Amino acid sequence: MESQQNGHAYESDAPKILCRVSSGDSSSSASNATEMNDCHDSRPHSPVLPIAQYRPLISRINRRIEKGKRWFSCEFFPPRTASGAVNLLSKFDRFAKGRPLFCDVTWHPAGNPMSDAPTSSIMVASAMLNYSGIDTMLHVTCVGLPEERMTAALERAKGLGLKNILALRGDLPEAPEDGAGGSGDVSNGDLLGDFKYAVDLVRFIRKRYGSFFNICVAGYPTGHPEASSYADDLLRLKEKVDAGADFIITQLFFEADTFLKFQSDCRQLGIRCPIIPGVLPIQAYQSLRHIVKLSKLAVPDEIIRTIEPIKENDEAIRNYGIFQCTQLCRKLLESGEVHGIHFYTLNREVATIEILRNIGLWHEDLPRPLPWKHSANHERCGELVRPVFWSNRPTSYVHRTLHWEEFPNGRWGGQMRLLLASSRTITCSILPFALPRRTG
Ligand SMILES: Cc1cc2nc3c(=O)[nH]c(=O)nc-3n(C[C@H](O)[C@H](O)[C@H](O)COP(=O)(O)OP(=O)(O)OC[C@H]3O[C@@H](n4cnc5c(N)ncnc54)[C@H](O)[C@@H]3O)c2cc1C
Repeated sequence: MESQQNGHAYESDAPKILCRVSSGDSSSSASNATEMNDCHDSRPHSPVLPIAQYRPLISRINRRIEKGKRWFSCEFFPPRTASGAVNLLSKFDRFAKGRPLFCDVTWHPAGNPMSDAPTSSIMVASAMLNYSGIDTMLHVTCVGLPEERMTAALERAKGLGLKNILALRGDLPEAPEDGAGGSGDVSNGDLLGDFKYAVDLVRFIRKRYGSFFNICVAGYPTGHPEASSYADDLLRLKEKVDAGADFIITQLFFEADTFLKFQSDCRQLGIRCPIIPGVLPIQAYQSLRHIVKLSKLAVPDEIIRTIEPIKENDEAIRNYGIFQCTQLCRKLLESGEVHGIHFYTLNREVATIEILRNIGLWHEDLPRPLPWKHSANHERCGELVRPVFWSNRPTSYVHRTLHWEEFPNGRWGGQMRLLLASSRTITCSILPFALPRRTG
């Protein structure tokens, strides 16, 4: 059974109601739970208590594709200021309500993405995962980095519980005035570090970390601007997948046919992994111009003709962006070839949420199986109880108990596990302690 927490990083194999379990052995809890589902008890039944187990993102994506279930994911970038970081956290909370399958955080090499600052990519991604309860993917660019620094970044990500990496080359460094090595010239090894292309990073992660990380790579529906041809770029994409990438997210595009042709070309070339279309709700004239300039994308004439006359009117542009992106998403979903859509939110919520509502992917009304905010960290997503005296702190609980495992005898986690080892009959209120972590 899949958890009702549609977008969450765990899935449940248990029935919805657990009354009482007779066992001191946590490993048999799941089967006991099934047996006890029909039990009749004079006491009221406890609420939903799914037996949670972390499932890697790629297996949740594949399962949704197999079952024909739709999903969405959202990209955010790190803010510039600490107050921006606080603001962004509240946005994560709002997005979490709509149950994205995952969200991702971009990597900005110039902005010290590995630092402890609240504005660094890695800290923003950690907050998204550990505090906001969203399964998170961290972008990492490799160009210019030596292996040791890349290892440090990945170790850090792993330590924070991040299990999904979008492996990117990044933009080439600018050439110094007196020499080669800048954009378009990859001959200067000193500037490029130990990684020349994203495929090198994919190989590096797989070699060093096996299957610990799910790896995503970037795809370009109209070809990467530096590629010698569209066909050559597709071959490079296949190399990334053959090197161990689990799935692909595309660069933004404006017309459904652009993506559908790209996906079909990928399939013909033997790329079998999921390909998630990336879409941008147009939110302002200037930001659109900036983005297409950076990405060297061509905007269809029809869009230009529509937005030029309203370019000074932010609200009109946003309304058009919602309309245009809704149409695009509908076409993609109606093709039957697309199950999930990735949104470039630009850290704004109104347009993306409205589009998601329009296309029926916003699931805020689903019941929550547990009254507090859940961690999406693979080591903590199985936690099903918490101290009652924090019942009025649904948001800070996960964060404040992050390090409790470090003090097993001084806190409730360790004590309750000892209790379970000797108990024959336990009630549902303490059962969950036994489920995710086995005492052995
Ligand atoms: C979904 C998505 C997310 C992104 N997030 C970020 C981000 O967080 N931070 C950031 O700085 N940038 C980001 N970018 C931009 C990205 O870094 C740039 O587009 C970059 O120029 C290419 O990165 P890549 O991983 O696609 O590179 P690669 O896959 O390495 O490809 C780069 C170019 O090299 C060519 N190539 C690849 N392998 C070979 C080979 N073996 N021999 C010869 N040519 C080869 C390709 O055809 C392509 O033209 C993102 C892009 C996308 C689509």
